[in-house]
Amino acid sequence: MTTIGVLALQGDVREHEAALARVGVNTLRVRRLAELDAVDGLVIPGGESTTIDKLLRIFDLFDPLKARLDDGLPVLGTCAGMIMLATDIIGAIEGQRSLGAIDMTVRRNAFGRQVDSSEVGLTWLPDGSAMHATFIRAPWVESYGDEVEVLAIDEAHGGQVVAVRQGNAIATSFHSEISGDDRVHALLAEIVAAR
Ligand code: GLN
Repeated sequence: MTTIGVLALQGDVREHEAALARVGVNTLRVRRLAELDAVDGLVIPGGESTTIDKLLRIFDLFDPLKARLDDGLPVLGTCAGMIMLATDIIGAIEGQRSLGAIDMTVRRNAFGRQVDSSEVGLTWLPDGSAMHATFIRAPWVESYGDEVEVLAIDEAHGGQVVAVRQGNAIATSFHSEISGDDRVHALLAEIVAAR
């Protein structure tokens, strides 16, 4: 049986564990190298990307995680996790780093103060079905490379790209772990199983 880790340095770890359990996979909290080595896939939760970045370095996990991602470790990043997976960040703080698993530029806190937090109806492009999504101080994808597949667009806010996939890496602007809609976690589990 496969195990999907949840990076547990900061952010909404428990909600991701619950979503992963609902799609039928084992979970493991990842805080150290031995735990990272033990997982077949990883979730980087929402929270605060500047803090997650700092803690990854303090816990000596930044480079090992980057190496596993470069090697194709299946990964899902939500919100701050999306920022962590980007190659470039608009609105980063001085010295903020990201892991570069998806060839995209994300804009932090992109929806502005008026829409700090919102519930939006999206179309999940892989099957054209409706999806209900929760955004909290979310980033959006400002631009992306040829290898990137767009998974969801936010028509309510001017057609912004809010979910993408490149190879084994998925990123969503929204918190797919708190809406009760487990299709994004199911996609991660499918990618892990196929590998
Ligand atoms: N604004 C946060 C950041 O830049 C992300 C917010 C979230 O993950 N809910 O990291």
